[in-house]
Amino acid sequence: MDDKLIPLRHSAAHVMAQAVMELYPGAKLGFGPAIEDGFYYDFELPRAITPDDLPAIEARMKEIVKGKHPFQHAELSIDAARAQFAAQPFKLDQVYALSTGAMGEHGETAAKPAESVSTYTHANFTDLCRGPHLAHTGEIPADALKLLSIAGAYWRGDEKNPQLTRIYGTVWSSKKELDEYLWRLEEAKKRDHRKLGRELGLFYFSDDIGPGLPLFTPKGEIVRYLMEDFVRETQTKYGYQHVWTGHMVKEDLYRKSGHYDNYRDSMFPAMEDEGVVFRLKPMNCPSHMTLFNEMGKHSYREFPLRMAEFATLYRYEKRGELSGLTRVRALTQDDCHVFCTEDQIESEFTLALNLIRKVLDTYKFTDYKVRLSLRGDTGKYVQDDEKWDKATRALRSALDTNKVEYFVAEGEAAFYGPKADFLARDVLGREWQLSTIQVDFIQPARIGCEYVAEDGSMRTPVVIHRAVTGSTERFLGVLIEQFAGAFPVWLAPVQMMIVPIADRHLEYANFVAAQLRAQNFRVEVDTRAERMNAKIRDAQLQKIPYMLVVGDKEEEAQAVAVRLRTGEDLKAIPLDQFRAMAKKIVDEKSLELK
Ligand SMILES: [Zn+2]
Ligand SMILES: [Zn+2]
Repeated sequence: MDDKLIPLRHSAAHVMAQAVMELYPGAKLGFGPAIEDGFYYDFELPRAITPDDLPAIEARMKEIVKGKHPFQHAELSIDAARAQFAAQPFKLDQVYALSTGAMGEHGETAAKPAESVSTYTHANFTDLCRGPHLAHTGEIPADALKLLSIAGAYWRGDEKNPQLTRIYGTVWSSKKELDEYLWRLEEAKKRDHRKLGRELGLFYFSDDIGPGLPLFTPKGEIVRYLMEDFVRETQTKYGYQHVWTGHMVKEDLYRKSGHYDNYRDSMFPAMEDEGVVFRLKPMNCPSHMTLFNEMGKHSYREFPLRMAEFATLYRYEKRGELSGLTRVRALTQDDCHVFCTEDQIESEFTLALNLIRKVLDTYKFTDYKVRLSLRGDTGKYVQDDEKWDKATRALRSALDTNKVEYFVAEGEAAFYGPKADFLARDVLGREWQLSTIQVDFIQPARIGCEYVAEDGSMRTPVVIHRAVTGSTERFLGVLIEQFAGAFPVWLAPVQMMIVPIADRHLEYANFVAAQLRAQNFRVEVDTRAERMNAKIRDAQLQKIPYMLVVGDKEEEAQAVAVRLRTGEDLKAIPLDQFRAMAKKIVDEKSLELK
């Protein structure tokens, strides 16, 4: 969040709390922070409210804004704070937690016990708060302020505590910024991949199959196939080899690799057969390392050995966290493990980086940053300081050499090593975690991977884990939102819809379709007894890139009248010429239509 927006949003939260206290006497106050894109405040209200109540609160807020009430800071002793908030049980709870150090001023756990607390007062309203605030309420631009929605939230996020009413609002530096934000919100709703997935007939979820297990239609499958094919083709060019390692693995392997201890909660329950326990594969690494061992004795001369696989993995995501394609229980990773020497980490990282850039650029994800996740102090990590340091140094150095901007997240590493995650911004400015590159000094030793080094000694290889798009399902969900369902021509499930003007043009329509199919275009003929305009509208709603209208004139001239899904009319074009144009666009994976 832009730092200058924090005091603005925080001040708006106080103003909202004052307005609610006036309109709902007896309301009890919870927390009211500034958040990404706005602010909220939690209340225990004397009666339930609905979104219809928001305009009145907003109107009262705007009056308070006009009053230009200064925000005044005060430092109160614990006793004075208790007296100040005597009628506010949640604030008393917070004062008590601050005084014992059970909670810090920003809700963090375990802080130093406070001897005094900070408050801010404007008009007749005082809140427990560390600030910062604006100088006075008049600095809030009233026309850039809007209340958005209502939700339920437990006090301190604990469902054993009372449930409060959370009111979300937003405020920006100007009306223009507010309007842009509201446009993005609206646009995000329109682009929601769960909604578009249904409308475009790409995928479904069924109660008979189970939660988080998507079913793909022929249209959805062709998009999956093309996405994976593109990565596979690019990987092959970059010297990766593809393998296949199935869906089930003996649990013992995960005990060896460390996943059993570190990842068990994310695995599906065990299956037992004749005393042997199996698990659905939650990741490929142990399988690839086992395959590496089975492939015979290895030498440094074969390195780097790059093993890639499109494998469907099964992860036990909590039901409540499942969301469309972006959080599923069956996900197909474009996974790869590179077996290499320590000296090769940097060049392999660079290779993976270039591959990732090539793929993301094609989808116009050109704005991304990298999060470098390091070990931090928590106990979940395998102890081997020297190896961790070496891996961390290698990743930092690779990022620096490649001039990639990154920020560090302590304590976010995988249990076996540090990782670099790519956070890409979509056209609405939302961040998605897609690609990842991870360095592993731990698992290969546990699984007993070895190679003959240059000096003839046996050594353990380093393994670099790498995924380009992350998972096919999640990436498809993101792509649907990125393109608002209007896929680039090379990816569109149906690229061309042929629209015969009358039944007598059906024969020519079928001829055109056959010509185009012969060049691998995905073509349909709309043979319905609908009017031409209705057919064009339906094809447009399906976001089909080209509508080819054929009637007497077109038949005569061996041409097609081309309409784009954008509404543009290219008029009649000779069939050969159209075919050449479309082929070039597909071959270049262009985002253009002409
Ligand atoms: Zn405040
Ligand atoms: Zn892996």
